[in-house]
Amino acid sequence: MSMALQVRDLRYCYPDGKEALKGVTFAVEDGECVGLVGPNGAGKSTLLLHLNGLLPETDAPLPAVWVRGIPVSRDRAREIHRRVGLLFQDPDDQLFCPTVFEDVAFGPSQLGLGEQEVKTLVESSLRTVGLEGFEHRMPHHLSGGEKRRVCLAGVLACRPEILVLDEPTSDLDPRAKRELKALLGGLPATRIIATHDLELVVELCSRVILIDEGRVVAEGSAGALLGDETLMLAHGLEKPHILRHRHPH
Ligand code: ADP
Repeated sequence: MSMALQVRDLRYCYPDGKEALKGVTFAVEDGECVGLVGPNGAGKSTLLLHLNGLLPETDAPLPAVWVRGIPVSRDRAREIHRRVGLLFQDPDDQLFCPTVFEDVAFGPSQLGLGEQEVKTLVESSLRTVGLEGFEHRMPHHLSGGEKRRVCLAGVLACRPEILVLDEPTSDLDPRAKRELKALLGGLPATRIIATHDLELVVELCSRVILIDEGRVVAEGSAGALLGDETLMLAHGLEKPHILRHRHPH
């Protein structure tokens, strides 16, 4: 197994002085599916934005994130974006084109692929997320769940080695949620999923990282961590229903 991602003592303070990350350290191996959980405001989104270099806005004095050994920094941005696909928490931050086709095509076009290849990738990615035939629709007229799936199609169209997903199941109805879980479960990519959907974590993630107040509080198997009711309650979460009958181990 080789290392897909390494985060070492990552600290980040927003320009208004809010200290969002206070020294986060963890590593993810190739092919792993890791759940990132924690209460609102824990620092999950801020952390994810660092994994493909969208934060910090300026070059940090020393890199704190490595993707396959490559330091995530401004001058390696292109290479990092090709390897790490990020699904934003808010689809409206990700969609900015007049049509679904153009939005999904944006990423692969930036990678320098030919027109025909991009078209094929867009069609297959839309099919994968269940939005076949949506090419000419206007993203801003879609429902929340449809928008989220367009964003995911755009990320998948770039065929990233590492998928970083921020709340991928919010706004989805139960059927779309089920389909997305099946899709995510079948992908070969390394996956890091920040979510409040703890059932998803139990079903898909081999490992869970719990963060609170900008720090890693606990790390372990989904069963052990999420099954620990005291730990969950102490950090604004709940033991998921599918683990109700089990005791922590
Ligand atoms: P989570 O994703 O776990 O809910 P966030 O990473 O969004 O947490 O937020 C971590 C902390 O940083 C919170 O206290 C939040 O209010 C703050 N924060 C998030 N974005 C900004 C911003 N753009 N400017 C200032 N503070 C922010």
